Amino acid sequence: MLPVQRISKSRKRKRRSHQALTPIQYVRCAQCGNAKLPHAACSNCGFVNPRLSIEVDTEQA
Ligand SMILES: [Zn+2]
Repeated sequence: MLPVQRISKSRKRKRRSHQALTPIQYVRCAQCGNAKLPHAACSNCGFVNPRLSIEVDTEQA
């Protein structure tokens, strides 16, 4: 199947102006400096905030 009518460069570019990806936001862990997602526990040390941290598997293969 072929398109009935050719889409102009302008119309094509206007449509694609909404398709840009946003870069992933990340912050540094306050405890170990590892990159982590905001509002998430650190995957390296489990730190969330000074009163709360979760346990993380520290076993290495
Ligand atoms: Zn950490």
